[in-house]
Amino acid sequence: MDEHRLAGNLAAVRARIAAACARTGRDPGAVELIAVTKSVGPEAVAALRRLGVRDFGENRTPDLAAKREALDAVPGDPVRWHMIGHFQRNKVRRALPAVDVVHSVASDALARVLAAEAERAGRPPLPVYVQVNVAAEPTKDGFAPDDLGRALAALRDLPALRVLGLMTLAPLADDPETVRPVFRRLRELRDWARDRRYLDGSALSMGMTDDYEVAVEEGSTAVRVGRGLFAGAGTTAE
Ligand SMILES: *Cc1c(COP(=O)(O)O)cnc(C)c1O
Repeated sequence: MDEHRLAGNLAAVRARIAAACARTGRDPGAVELIAVTKSVGPEAVAALRRLGVRDFGENRTPDLAAKREALDAVPGDPVRWHMIGHFQRNKVRRALPAVDVVHSVASDALARVLAAEAERAGRPPLPVYVQVNVAAEPTKDGFAPDDLGRALAALRDLPALRVLGLMTLAPLADDPETVRPVFRRLRELRDWARDRRYLDGSALSMGMTDDYEVAVEEGSTAVRVGRGLFAGAGTTAE
């Protein structure tokens, strides 16, 4: 693995986030960079931690738990693990101890299971994002925008969950400008939900390698970047 290349990629991503903030008068400190490590092995995760990354995302719970364990064995500052992919309800009990934040609360049933398990484990309220299928793609998880008010109101009855805000995945596009309206819509939905007091949190988890700069311009507070960090660094999965 080429750690210099990894460091260069990381610096470039941070600089692009800062530039997108500067263009829109935002504070770069308000944008969290979550390194999505699903395509790399634990040694690349450890290298990123040495470079100061503190937030890691995985979309499969067994991988998340394994990488967390590998990293916990190496001395260093604590980090946070973000579950960003489809969370199967029957995996929650086993996986939740390794998870710090869930970005993919996409159904009432999953919310109830997460709340029940967080409570059972006696842990403080679990930070979650509510996933919204802004572009109404049949292949993607998430509440329909029309259903969001109802879903958020139901979540208020689950004090074991702390809703940080909303999350979305934009459709694949060659030109990130194409998906700007998706990010803008998520921000507008957040503002609407806060006005209605359906939502206390104001975080927006949106933006990946191909579109995070546009997402930051539209108000993202958490970008989930994988390929952009690892390109050319010779990292391998497991
Ligand atoms: C893989 C993945 C990402 C990161 O994708 P890249 O294109 O590699 O940056 C972000 N969010 C989710 C939900 C993912 O599954």
